[in-house]
Amino acid sequence: MNAYQHLYINGQWVAPAKGGSFETIDPSNEAVITRVAAATSCDIDLAVQAARQAFDQGPWPQLAGAERAAVLRRIASIIRERQQELAELEVRDNGKPLPEALWDIGDTAGCFDFYADLAEKLDAEREQPVTLGDDRFSSVARKEPVGVAGAIIPWNFPMLMAAWKVAPALAAGCTMVLKPSELTPLTALELADIAHQAGLPAGVLNVVPGLGAEAGAPLSEHPGIDKLAFTGSVPTGSRIMQAAARDIKNISLELGGKSPFIVFDDADIEAAVEWIMFGIFWNQGEVCSATSRVLVQRDLYQPLLARLAEAAASITIGSGLEEGVLLGPLVNRSQFDKVLTAIARGKQEGATLLYGGSRPAECSKGYFLQPTIFSDVAEDSWIWQEEIFGPVVCVRPFDDEADALRSANDSRFGLAAAVMSKDLERCERVARKLRAGIVWINCSQPTFTEAPWGGYKQSGIGRELGQWGLNNYLETKQITRFDSDQPWGWYIK
Ligand code: NAD
Repeated sequence: MNAYQHLYINGQWVAPAKGGSFETIDPSNEAVITRVAAATSCDIDLAVQAARQAFDQGPWPQLAGAERAAVLRRIASIIRERQQELAELEVRDNGKPLPEALWDIGDTAGCFDFYADLAEKLDAEREQPVTLGDDRFSSVARKEPVGVAGAIIPWNFPMLMAAWKVAPALAAGCTMVLKPSELTPLTALELADIAHQAGLPAGVLNVVPGLGAEAGAPLSEHPGIDKLAFTGSVPTGSRIMQAAARDIKNISLELGGKSPFIVFDDADIEAAVEWIMFGIFWNQGEVCSATSRVLVQRDLYQPLLARLAEAAASITIGSGLEEGVLLGPLVNRSQFDKVLTAIARGKQEGATLLYGGSRPAECSKGYFLQPTIFSDVAEDSWIWQEEIFGPVVCVRPFDDEADALRSANDSRFGLAAAVMSKDLERCERVARKLRAGIVWINCSQPTFTEAPWGGYKQSGIGRELGQWGLNNYLETKQITRFDSDQPWGWYIK
């Protein structure tokens, strides 16, 4: 394909208007992978115009769901054919271990197939009769695409986060301008190439990498956009919401988290260690739903801490492309510095640094960090309350169920939560009392395309994935008809 020095606008690879570019680096060795075209407001304008035209005049929103599904399935199939190569590219750009990148790319293909199915069903379910309390009228509720969507995504699951927005938007009949993160733009550009090859009409998907202030902000402020779909941090989400407020754009926000994991003392200690570690160390802890606050019932607290520290010490750290690596580098220097600053703050706050906390001695290059465990963390401390977005877990003891629930819910975030116990009734009860959009019982993190994803409180607005993800890109219209032969009676009596 193109050498990443072009933007994908209106079905063509074009040079950015101002000719700008930025570097993307391999965080395992700090080397530059390539330079990438940087979109600015003129390019965003062109991309929105192309998406607007493809929506207002193009065939895409008018096609039968089955016709759109055929394109989505072709996209899925090309992604599957290129799974290994795309996964390796994701590792180089983001740092994650290859087996995890292979999951991501597999899930990306699965997401396009899933929404292809929903696009087909949409034809049959598009219009639903509405029973009115007045039989002189008949009415239907009709689903229609919301229009031109602007999508802004983060760097932690680059291609998958693109798919969570692109697949349902295209299934609904929307057109889109996608701005990937400037830290990991490569697989989004590959997705544009794949969509092109799959026969997606010009202008339906436009991909414009660029910096947040130079490309993201003009996209979020653009009057030609009907809907904004954003995944990223709370402060940027708040800016997006303010931009959307100016002309009342439809928005959905998937933001940060500080998700609790409650472990009762009847839990199997080995299973608990496995899920706690996966919950915070997979993807280097750069996961919005990472269960970064662990609450352990008092009797299990010391034995579990000892076992957790031992297990963390055995984790293999290295380049994501090396065999057997479980923890790759953080995405870039700035994220690495942010996490080290958070660790220093935890120490200052008086938490016990039980394991990790620094760059492994054997790694002289790359943004590698040891898996890090803090115990005895104060509930009102910064490290207990704020998202670190790295491989850092905070652990506290609790006495009983009420205490665990109080502490778990004491957060401005509400993305995810997990509970572990052999007493399933207790788990089900606790799950219903946790103020979070996603609750895992006896596990942490498994994510399914079919199930709703999103947060309570400051973790966001709206839901992605499943039917809910499609609804994000649909408007509901009522069409109501007066069926009576009799006059209405306001003027004609
Ligand atoms: P970020 O908010 O810094 O950036 C996200 C995106 O917004 C990037 O593409 C960036 O270029 C763009 N951006 C930055 N400033 C902008 C502006 N002023 N206007 C418009 N766009 C702008 O977040 P990040 O560091 O890329 O990602 C990490 C955050 O994302 C974490 O808080 C994490 O929890 C969250 N996240 C949430 C989910 C979820 O599903 N809830 C999933 C992944 C990540």
